[in-house]
Amino acid sequence: MTGGPVTEAGPSPDDLAALTADLREQRAFRLDQLKEYARPTPPAGADSGSRDEVRAQLAASARMVLSDVEAALARLESGRYGRCERCARPVPVQRLRIVPQARYCARCQQAGESGKPERSGKPGEQGKSGEFGKPGEIGR
Ligand SMILES: [Zn+2]
Repeated sequence: MTGGPVTEAGPSPDDLAALTADLREQRAFRLDQLKEYARPTPPAGADSGSRDEVRAQLAASARMVLSDVEAALARLESGRYGRCERCARPVPVQRLRIVPQARYCARCQQAGESGKPERSGKPGEQGKSGEFGKPGEIGR
């Protein structure tokens, strides 16, 4: 029984309202994006093949974010929003403000990312992944 504001305890009603608005906006934006990508490209030039590929990649990532956003909105409705789905601890509101659709706390997110080989077969474009070169933090 402690009074006073405990920021670690998760988002306040005010925060939730702001985050909900944010997530709705994000959802609308992504839906728009996907509509855009779904449209057939006019035969503009010879290079439309690789452009289609880029579009497909962009659409895939937009779809991924969209599903995260929709999951977050569902959690908001069921009152489970703001808790890590892995360790059930409250996700700090500072983190939610940056990534409103986050489903894990920073620690679990990191553990998950290094645990599964998510982006292995990326064509071309090496050296700007940013995945490596994190100093320190050799977990285990
Ligand atoms: Zn966690």
